[in-house]
Amino acid sequence: MSASCCGTTASLELEQNVTSGAAGVLPIVVIGAGPVGLAAAAHLAERGQDFLVLEAGQRVAASVAQWGHVRVFSPWKYNIDAAARRLLEADGWTAPDADWLPTGGELIEDYLAPLAELFGDKVRLGAKVSAISRLGYDRVRTNGREDVPFLIRLESGEELQARAVVDASGNYTGPNVLGASGLPAHGENTVDVDHALPDVLGADRERYEGKHTLVVGAGHSAATTLLALAQLENAQITWAIRAGSAGRTYGGGDADALPARGALGTRLRAHVDSGRITLLTGFFAHSVTTDGEQATVISRDPSGAGQSVTVDRIVAATGYRPDHSIASELRLDLDPILGSTRRLAPLIDPNQHSCGTVPAHGVDELSHPEPGYYAVGVKSYGRAPTFLMATGYEQVRSVVAAIAGDWEEARDVQLDLPETGVCSSNLAEAQEQRVGLATGISGGLLATPLPLVTVGASDGGGCCG
Ligand SMILES: Cc1cc2nc3c(=O)[nH]c(=O)nc-3n(C[C@H](O)[C@H](O)[C@H](O)COP(=O)(O)OP(=O)(O)OC[C@H]3O[C@@H](n4cnc5c(N)ncnc54)[C@H](O)[C@@H]3O)c2cc1C
Repeated sequence: MSASCCGTTASLELEQNVTSGAAGVLPIVVIGAGPVGLAAAAHLAERGQDFLVLEAGQRVAASVAQWGHVRVFSPWKYNIDAAARRLLEADGWTAPDADWLPTGGELIEDYLAPLAELFGDKVRLGAKVSAISRLGYDRVRTNGREDVPFLIRLESGEELQARAVVDASGNYTGPNVLGASGLPAHGENTVDVDHALPDVLGADRERYEGKHTLVVGAGHSAATTLLALAQLENAQITWAIRAGSAGRTYGGGDADALPARGALGTRLRAHVDSGRITLLTGFFAHSVTTDGEQATVISRDPSGAGQSVTVDRIVAATGYRPDHSIASELRLDLDPILGSTRRLAPLIDPNQHSCGTVPAHGVDELSHPEPGYYAVGVKSYGRAPTFLMATGYEQVRSVVAAIAGDWEEARDVQLDLPETGVCSSNLAEAQEQRVGLATGISGGLLATPLPLVTVGASDGGGCCG
């Protein structure tokens, strides 16, 4: 019972409910029906655990659908969770070509949508979670906390209870700002800023044709968007980066460990050298003004020196950040830099790692002081751009084993990636001629060599490179 002086009668009733087993029969709630949330569901289903997946969008993998036109850089064999594969194959599904690089749209159509169908009404669409707490317990109240159910409030006002929460809500809805210091540029909220990977050659073509577009960011999302824009004959293109040179984005050219990445960088450099793309280096977006038609983005570098550019469209390819606000009544132990758990942070730190050198990790690295709450998938990485679906699948295998009480399996974490690369460079090179390759992650999959992590490896060569 709580040591608090207030609310004694209510808490007594609550604890009696719990000790009579109320929490034990509740489902495990998975937030988000993206690749990792649905993989969590597959592991829960295999272990016979009751679950409910809550998806904000009106379709499964609503975030992936937003970049459905982008071809990913890891082939099918690394994009399918093992438990999901077993369930699908038992239902007569045939896996796509293991070495092919799917688009986001193909990921949904050929894998995620059929997977979600297996779970029927255990996947609820249009169910956006607005807050998570514990029944009768705010963040401060301790005694008996771990025994009471989670309380999950939906945007509609509906409330649900859960035995555990697997938060796979991603970070795609939290793009980083244009402003160079992590704060919105002055006036940023008053102009129309497109976020990474618009479908320049498809659905969004009209927005860019005949226009002057500014792309801000140094990752391969920026590179992919720039190369697509360069295919529009009458588009004017400016590219702004904080660094003094674009060397990191260009990669190693012919000497690059990944030919596709090298080719991407080489083509980008050629466009800059020929003047097709105007490159602004040392550009620290500070403020934006608009005359209603065009926007002027003004840079002020740390020394105070300024430069500016006036454009019709702005694309901010500046990465993503997680939104932990839905869990603000839970006890989270967040790394002050990345916003992952503190134990995970050194394993995924982009200053030390590319995606291929991130070691296998699971429940121990993902646990917060709040028992039973786990952020998984790309959300678990916070601002680190080093996430791969394959690592997310291992996370949820481990977390679900722990929830089911199988601690031996939960702690036996491994990443089964081959020695030769997560990303198939030859295929990538051929396929990117058609649609372009991107990770959507600044400094992500294409930004460094594609090191591959074998079980127990502490470093590797890599995908992200
Ligand atoms: C363009 C791009 C290319 C990538 N390419 C690769 C690649 O080649 N290989 C690779 O391994 N990884 C790649 N990644 C990284 C990563 O694997 C993907 O981002 C992947 O989609 C992450 O899966 P997730 O399930 O963690 O999150 P998401 O796919 O972001 O799914 C989160 C889901 O949660 C839902 N949601 C959000 N908020 C709420 C809420 N409050 N309540 C309920 N539901 C909510 C969303 O609608 C969404 O469906 C890429 C990422 C991007 C952006």
